[in-house]
Amino acid sequence: MIEELGDWRRTHYSKDISSKLDGKEAIVFGWIEDIRDLGKITFYTLRDKEGVIQITVHKKNVSKKLLEKLSLIKRQYAIGVKGIIKANPEAPKGVELIPLEIKILGEAIHPLPLDPTGRTPAELDTRLKARILDLRRPESRAIFLIRHEVTNAIRSFLIKKGYIEVHTPRIISAAAEGGAALFKINYFDSQAYLAQSPELYKEQLITVFEKVFEIGTFFRAEETHTRRHLNEFISVDLEEAFVTMNDVMKVQEEMIVYAISKVKEERKEELEILGVNLEIPKIPFKRYTYDEILKELEKAGEKIEWGNDISTPAYRKLGKLHLNEFYFIIDWPSKTRPFYIKPKEDNPGLSYAFDLMYEWIEIASGGSRVDKKTVFLERLKEQNLNPNSFKFYLDVFDYGMPPHAGWGLGLDRLIMALLKRENIREVVLFPRDRFLLVP
Ligand code: ATP
Ligand code: MG
Repeated sequence: MIEELGDWRRTHYSKDISSKLDGKEAIVFGWIEDIRDLGKITFYTLRDKEGVIQITVHKKNVSKKLLEKLSLIKRQYAIGVKGIIKANPEAPKGVELIPLEIKILGEAIHPLPLDPTGRTPAELDTRLKARILDLRRPESRAIFLIRHEVTNAIRSFLIKKGYIEVHTPRIISAAAEGGAALFKINYFDSQAYLAQSPELYKEQLITVFEKVFEIGTFFRAEETHTRRHLNEFISVDLEEAFVTMNDVMKVQEEMIVYAISKVKEERKEELEILGVNLEIPKIPFKRYTYDEILKELEKAGEKIEWGNDISTPAYRKLGKLHLNEFYFIIDWPSKTRPFYIKPKEDNPGLSYAFDLMYEWIEIASGGSRVDKKTVFLERLKEQNLNPNSFKFYLDVFDYGMPPHAGWGLGLDRLIMALLKRENIREVVLFPRDRFLLVP
């Protein structure tokens, strides 16, 4: 029997109900997290977006009608309670609500596919299948509240620094990050792709706005199933005119430190739920050259041929040598980097490129960008790419292309690193991988 909301409106969130309000009437809404029937008394834990409040029912004191309605309630029902606030030193936070009237607003069918109290632990696969119930677990909620805080901090930091927020297309005609990982889509009578990054759009936009950023979803048809790749991820992208790689690296590390300090300030309770002791890293983050990293790896028994990318096992080893550390890897061989990365003028085998790492995980990539048309054409040739596909971008070189630099940072990976989660799926609401398209 589901009731209408009618004229009931919330008077208090759970967190606003305190013993100081003893004797006052309140209307609260939320979901029943737990029911403990002790015979003469029943305790209901009601959760709303701000926390929990105890609803206490002394059976002999309530009407038969209310008692009957209460007997229908099961865990995860959405209900409204009108009641009297009562100070009670024995109740959690010293306060409880004594119901006068309730409304059943949404039922839940039992058995539930997942226990949202988290008392019966479940595997990640099971949790992701019943994701909406899983998200009601305190740990999951904590992750996404912190994620919200980080996103908010990043956005306000970049705006304060004078960057303009932009939205570039998701439907594109040419790849910026290598053809293999593109999702093809039918676009009326032609072929289009889902964007892997905003790269060539943000690079154009600096010729107008100079400093731009975007926080958005991008798509990669990653073939491999890993703990740090998804087919849909959120990227924080930044691009700036009249600067080089070092300038935008500085912005990046300051932004991360700002976000961490905001989380520490605003989300103490959530960090505690997750058992995470967030430390504010020192800036500047350490910078290692690609060559230094190769030497370090060789000492640790992992030989990488110069000019090759660093393999996953090598990254794993690197992670053990850089515990709890954000660090940059700079001066990458040009051939390991995308065509839009600028080769060094005096040594074109090396490039103005960097990766930001946390332990073994790549968090961001960036660099100074190619700013001359001739060099851009050479880079396309080196990487066997067809200049015709990039005409729209090549034209911009004819309209006054300044030196510029930027980066793309995986927001999901940053959260994963900060909260020390082993799997990126933990920090994404509805992750998309090869095997996960529902829910
Ligand atoms: P990786 O080598 O880890 O696959 P990448 O070098 O291909 O990453 P970039 O093109 O440098 O990725 O993208 C910038 C950032 O976006 C990465 O540093 C990473 O944080 C994030 N990112 C890229 N691909 C994915 C993905 N499939 N899932 C989640 N995050 C991703
Ligand atoms: Mg990269």
